[in-house]
Amino acid sequence: MTARITHWINGQLWTGTAERSGDVYDPATGQVTKKVDFASGAVLDEAVAAAKAAFPGWRDASLTKRTQVLFAFREILNANKEQVAALITEEHGKVLSDALGEVTRGQEVVEFACGIPHLLKGGFSEGVSSGVDVYSIRQPLGVVGIISPFNFPAMVPMWFFPVAIAAGNTVVVKPSEKDPSAIMLIAQMWKQAGLPDGVFNVVHGDKEAVDGLLDNPDVKSISFVGSTPIARYIYETGTRNGKRVQALGGAKNHMLVLPDADLDLAADAAINAGFGSAGERCMAISVVLAVDPIGDELVAKIAERMPPLKTGDGRRGTDMGPLVTGVHRDKVASYVDAGEAAGATLVADGRIIDVDGDEAGFWLLPTLFDHVTTDMTIYTDEIFGPVLCVVRVPSYDAGVALINDHPYGNGTAIFTNDGGAARRFQNEIQVGMVGINVPIPVPMAYYSFGGWKASLFGDSHAHGTEGVHFFTRGKVITSRWLDPSHGGINLGFPTQS
Ligand code: NAD
Repeated sequence: MTARITHWINGQLWTGTAERSGDVYDPATGQVTKKVDFASGAVLDEAVAAAKAAFPGWRDASLTKRTQVLFAFREILNANKEQVAALITEEHGKVLSDALGEVTRGQEVVEFACGIPHLLKGGFSEGVSSGVDVYSIRQPLGVVGIISPFNFPAMVPMWFFPVAIAAGNTVVVKPSEKDPSAIMLIAQMWKQAGLPDGVFNVVHGDKEAVDGLLDNPDVKSISFVGSTPIARYIYETGTRNGKRVQALGGAKNHMLVLPDADLDLAADAAINAGFGSAGERCMAISVVLAVDPIGDELVAKIAERMPPLKTGDGRRGTDMGPLVTGVHRDKVASYVDAGEAAGATLVADGRIIDVDGDEAGFWLLPTLFDHVTTDMTIYTDEIFGPVLCVVRVPSYDAGVALINDHPYGNGTAIFTNDGGAARRFQNEIQVGMVGINVPIPVPMAYYSFGGWKASLFGDSHAHGTEGVHFFTRGKVITSRWLDPSHGGINLGFPTQS
């Protein structure tokens, strides 16, 4: 019998019967292995009601108590991360070591959130006026919604919920319906850690569940990560409904390689960042900008590193796994067709399949295009697969202009040995996360993650201090303790005296 995955509401598995469900695949075999329940609006409301009921108790739990639960959760997660990683590989397809890396990066946000007593400290000004003190505090929002994409089923939700929970909010997560199991294990870990029922809820589904979160007035904020068209929709609908929204969208990350760069380092980086996780990373490098005259040499170095790459079942020690679904594999392959038809030079053709895995898996091998031009769809669109495009540019300025003109602005990197050029790049580039000789510059948990332009809607990035601000509201208190000399009527505007 196919396993069924259902919702987690108020500290337990939902016991109802779903009217709709989705298929969950093992991408390495192409087989449906599980069914996931899709929530109706009513089920979504049930989860929000549980979260709302849990809010007053959790908000009022002492910082000490909340921190103890976070530390306990961190220990349980750390002890069981291989299990979470195995579930990710089973449903997403990424290789085990990569899945483990994802869990570790999520865990870092939990570790950051363990410092919540310090992060929530306010300011205090004594004696702003005679006998008057002013101080600030930050308080939780209430029920917060998190909607996550398929490509990081554990890490992306963990960009948000550790901070949200630590700050005293209660949470409803709507994970991707393509790989819903990892978050279920995490839900059980929270319970084991002593989190009160109703603080952490998971509702599976598609647009109906998402719209339920957007429409429910008890949901005070939405943290979304996914493709740009949906991010825009989430931002517009959520803010229209009076919610605080951070909606992280798609990407097209460029790597600019200057002639003075170490070309071996740059070629290694292009391979790792282009084909890791089969290119299904929002921080993947998808465009290499080779500044004249290094184009031929750089392309040759990248190409010579490709044949040894082993694509296959992620459980078998391969370098790269399958794509997440057959539909997505076909979409990515159609971009390879389009690039070829548009006249780009196909240096390595990933449509020629030679894998260590089941023939029915969703395979596409690493693909390299050279002489890509900016009018081609392989340049303009986010492909989200193992397709790396090389664009030749005449100068540093031409490369920077291309990056700044592109609608996306998630991540970028420069490869150079010239500190002055790197410093100029970090200043001029219109992108949220910048690497200097680092191809996937994902910020640590105590900094904030997020792009610019069409890669993020809203003004708060994820985790770090921006995350703490997103999940709390500021309040400033002006207080005077009894001093009879300050009585009396005065209708003037208060000033400091
Ligand atoms: P997606 O936009 O298809 O789905 C994201 C979430 O939205 C899922 O939970 C999905 O169920 C839901 N959803 C899908 N269609 C919807 C609709 N019509 N209305 C409402 N909700 C809907 O994205 P995906 O394919 O799961 O993930 C890949 C995308 O996510 C890529 O574009 C990638 O760049 C992006 N991403 C961005 C970041 C970032 O930090 N900027 C991080 C990871 C992934």
